[in-house]
Amino acid sequence: MHEMGVAAEVRRIARQSVADRGPGRITCVRLAVGDLAAIEPELLKYAWEALVEGTPEAGATLEVDWRPATQTCRICGDLPGRAPGTWLRLCPRCDGVLSVTGGDDLDVLQVVFEEEDPVEREAQGGER
Ligand SMILES: [Zn+2]
Repeated sequence: MHEMGVAAEVRRIARQSVADRGPGRITCVRLAVGDLAAIEPELLKYAWEALVEGTPEAGATLEVDWRPATQTCRICGDLPGRAPGTWLRLCPRCDGVLSVTGGDDLDVLQVVFEEEDPVEREAQGGER
């Protein structure tokens, strides 16, 4: 499952992000997922839950911030409607070439975590 690999990468990034700021436990990761990223949000959440079960991240939620892509005709400017997951090559009105804007996001936007022990973090020198 493609989503499992993405979930594992998201966890790696989230862990690194928390490690950079001191000991902590991830509680929520917010991810931007674009229309063109070939990710099914529900499958990704399912993969995430399976991945973190029984790990220090267990219970951490994955929130998906969906970023749609839009298609525009360069000739008539029309925005032909399309069914989700389908893409048109040419404008249905004038046969102009359609351009696609946005929707290629796959970024970790935010990692929320609880500090495990702020006092201990200070004692360790507390980078950042
Ligand atoms: Zn057109």
